[in-house]
Amino acid sequence: MGKYTKTAKIIAAIICMLLAAFLATCSADLQDTDDDSLLPQKTTEGSEPSHTDTASPAPTSEPPKPPPAPSPTPELKLVPYDGVVEHIFFHEVIVWPELAFDGGSGQKGYDDYMVTAYEYKKILESLYKNNYILVDLNDVWSEYTNDSGQQRMRRNTLMLPEGKKPIVFSYDDINFYQYMRGDGFMEKLIIGEDGDIWDYGIDPKGNIVISQEMTAVTILDSFVKDNPGFSLGGVKGCIALTGYEGILGYRTQTDRNDNSQEFQLNRMQEVARVRPVVQKLKENGWYFATHSYGHINLERASLEGVKNDAIRWMDEVGSLIGETKIFIYPFGSRLDRGDVYSTGPAFEFYHSLGFRVFASVGREPFSRIKPDISAVVLDRMNSDGISLRRSRERFLYLYDAAEVFDPRRPAEYGNTW
Ligand SMILES: [Zn+2]
Repeated sequence: MGKYTKTAKIIAAIICMLLAAFLATCSADLQDTDDDSLLPQKTTEGSEPSHTDTASPAPTSEPPKPPPAPSPTPELKLVPYDGVVEHIFFHEVIVWPELAFDGGSGQKGYDDYMVTAYEYKKILESLYKNNYILVDLNDVWSEYTNDSGQQRMRRNTLMLPEGKKPIVFSYDDINFYQYMRGDGFMEKLIIGEDGDIWDYGIDPKGNIVISQEMTAVTILDSFVKDNPGFSLGGVKGCIALTGYEGILGYRTQTDRNDNSQEFQLNRMQEVARVRPVVQKLKENGWYFATHSYGHINLERASLEGVKNDAIRWMDEVGSLIGETKIFIYPFGSRLDRGDVYSTGPAFEFYHSLGFRVFASVGREPFSRIKPDISAVVLDRMNSDGISLRRSRERFLYLYDAAEVFDPRRPAEYGNTW
């Protein structure tokens, strides 16, 4: 899996779609559902008509919002909490459903794995109303030395405002992949003139849009600004990144087939541009995870392939985002074909790189502290089109799909409620 050729990507995408179709038909009795997310790539290059029309852009950027007036913070009573920590995950949000759901080759994948900005905001509102509060996945467990001198993980007691229930958000593939261009998504996160995180994209008419309401990241940032009680200490979510098309909308990846000076120069510029974005995201309460370099299927890759992919991620992405101990599995496929009750060589390799928290996808917020190695394995619930359409009951304590569901989704796929 050293090469990430377009052909391989397309094959992977087809496999992913077939797997997704299979999972959709039998999701009722599956322990682990597929997480996502290598959606079909557009093979027609240059099919982005609106993007070229930027000679005289009409920026529709709103003026930066003034920071919220410091409200007198009421004395919150913190109480110990040892119960379940909910964990749901998203992908990038769809801003223009008319482009995502235009009958194109990506439509089904977008419908399955994404939520729209409209749905996302409603989900946030519902969780807030239901007394959930965002916590940092890094704060849920910590490493300690046991009586035998071994490093192990243990669950921390969280201190939460009385009446609040903890939830973790993670976000897969916040890379703004090339195939998503022109399909109803923004294109990158940028630093605005006010020094804060803004999002950048091209609207359906070809105009540049700079906003703080059009990506998963900025929408949550804005929501927490308006509702500080939704976040414990300002924490936001875990951003899981691959590396094969760079990160956060910046093409920071290497290309083993292109040693040209031009490519190198562009890459260095992209690296320089993304660094302050990463820095600001961290200041705003975001933290990072690996999602493998090539969005590889860990159950199919050889041990050597898994290792090489991990090393490349550490080189090209880890070097930009800093240390992380969180691994969000692509496709939800676990290392060594299962790591909940066994520990294999690929898991040990990731452990040697400093990873301690290994997250897949499941029907409930399952987690298990491994007894034989210092690590935690866990499941996250998929907050996406599949679960909106088919798992309303399971998510009802968090939000009601019938209230959240975006009527602009294609009717043809149907709902079970
Ligand atoms: Zn993914």
